[in-house]
Amino acid sequence: PSPVPAPTDGSASGRSVDVVVIGAGFSGMYLLHRLRGHGLRVQVFEMADDVGGTWHWNRYPGARCDIRSMEYSYSFDPQLEQEWQWTEKYPTQPEILRYAHHVADRFDLRRDIRFRTRVESTVWDDAAERWTVRTDGGEEWTAQFVVHASGCLSIYKKPEIPGLESFRGAWYHTARWPHEGVDFTGLRVGVIGTGSSAIQSIPLIARQAGDLTVFQRTPNFAVPAHNHPFPPGYQEEMKAHYPEFREDARTSMLGIPHPPAEKGALEDDAESRRARYEKAWNDRDNTLVDLMAAYTDMLTDQAANDTAAEFVRERIREIVHDPGVAETLCPKDYPIGSKRICVATDYYETYNQPHVHLVDLRRTPLVEVTPAGVRTTEREYELDALVLATGFDAQTGALTSIDIRGRGGQRLTDHWSAGPRSYLGIGIAGFPNTFVVTGPQSPSVLSNMMVSIEQHVEWISDCIAFVRERGIRTIEPTPEAEQAWVDHNAEVGNATLFPTANSWYMGSNVEGKPRVFMPYIGGVGPYRERCQEVAANGYEGFLID
Ligand code: FAD
Repeated sequence: PSPVPAPTDGSASGRSVDVVVIGAGFSGMYLLHRLRGHGLRVQVFEMADDVGGTWHWNRYPGARCDIRSMEYSYSFDPQLEQEWQWTEKYPTQPEILRYAHHVADRFDLRRDIRFRTRVESTVWDDAAERWTVRTDGGEEWTAQFVVHASGCLSIYKKPEIPGLESFRGAWYHTARWPHEGVDFTGLRVGVIGTGSSAIQSIPLIARQAGDLTVFQRTPNFAVPAHNHPFPPGYQEEMKAHYPEFREDARTSMLGIPHPPAEKGALEDDAESRRARYEKAWNDRDNTLVDLMAAYTDMLTDQAANDTAAEFVRERIREIVHDPGVAETLCPKDYPIGSKRICVATDYYETYNQPHVHLVDLRRTPLVEVTPAGVRTTEREYELDALVLATGFDAQTGALTSIDIRGRGGQRLTDHWSAGPRSYLGIGIAGFPNTFVVTGPQSPSVLSNMMVSIEQHVEWISDCIAFVRERGIRTIEPTPEAEQAWVDHNAEVGNATLFPTANSWYMGSNVEGKPRVFMPYIGGVGPYRERCQEVAANGYEGFLID
């Protein structure tokens, strides 16, 4: 008899399946559906107690997508995309989570997902040519394939702040927000961090808090969201043209349809440039990419980039009344766009409220959390509650937090000791029959992730079907193909301004993490073509046995 307890939630019986999928966010959900369609037995493991991934965990006030709702959704099923009704330009976390639940119900996904189960290790068995997958419940499963759909931004950074455990008030990480919400009414609240999650939540926390202190190390550029409910008829009109719209997204540079820029920023005179930036800033239907896509050289030429950065700094100085606070909020030491641009509603305006204070941790570094609050080199701030918006171990964290061992017992963490190495961001040399959805060195976090997720899921599931149909036992990238992709990734990345910033794209937010530009900047459309060519050429660059 099997030592493994029988699945309690109706998941695939037995402990041997064709494919194990790790994660039940939008990647894992679609993988399950596609792989089932190929007649494969699939078992999904998910740490959370339901589907949704990012949108299950990140329930902080103001959590919202910054890709327009009708683009941040699956395109694989025309009926699904026609029947689902979005309500506004940028959907809130609850709306996206409702969508994820709808998809899970519609395709009956939950029966093959084991929730509240963390995968702790995946070990390749050279003799059996299968993976052994161990979970935190002590279960052991085997599978011919393992697909990591465990997310680019799913392992939140544990706060490295001394004294946190001594704090008498309550503290919350934005990525593990209590499902029942938090009532800050009248409290003295501190927020540590000013990245995207902080910028979304600060204006809403300020509405409740009696007093709000924001502790900032690095200011971020934020563009106005101009969020609004859909006007009557808008959604119907979009849906009538969905196939063309989706195709434009797939072939675009960032997974968001946008007309290509025609010239460099300095080829325009100052007045015309300003007019373009004003339009990108003020247009109610603007997107995250409009400002940076105004000219061809915004991310390759520092002088071009400076023009847009200064435009945003001028807006900050216009919005924020106190000139000292405005200057502290102005990013000055990295190119705009080289860290993820934030999309904001009333963020800068919030600092005009008398009960909202900004502490510049560069001037007065944070020393420790005390029982009563937060101490900087200057003074102690007394607080009732603390919000940690301290980000994620991005791109590699979900992979390196599992003990992954490939051929000959080689550990992934050793293979990646100088930074992630992959072929197309999908496969890893020495790790047969394993794939990563939106892995490092694929467009991933530099794109509308829904577009990138669908592309990877389709490519990976078709590859697995190809292997199975031909009775192939193993497939894995050749070391040469991997090296060539690593070099190509570095070459295109180094031709941009990205490596000049300390960003989570570079791994700079995690101590000890190698400083390497992780996402692929060659563009969603060209990247898709490359992946298609590889498949069409019989999985060129892969060793097939
Ligand atoms: P996730 O949604 O991260 O799901 C991965 C799942 O794997 C998680 O549920 C996790 O619990 C599970 N998991 C991880 N490790 C294990 C393990 N060892 N065992 C079991 N389960 C495991 N993208 C955009 O394109 N536009 C946006 O506006 C946008 N906004 C975002 C805002 C926030 C706050 C965050 C955090 C991310 C945002 N993203 C955005 C990126 C977002 O992560 C992706 O769009 C998308 O949701 C990723 O889906 P996924 O299934 O690949 O990963």
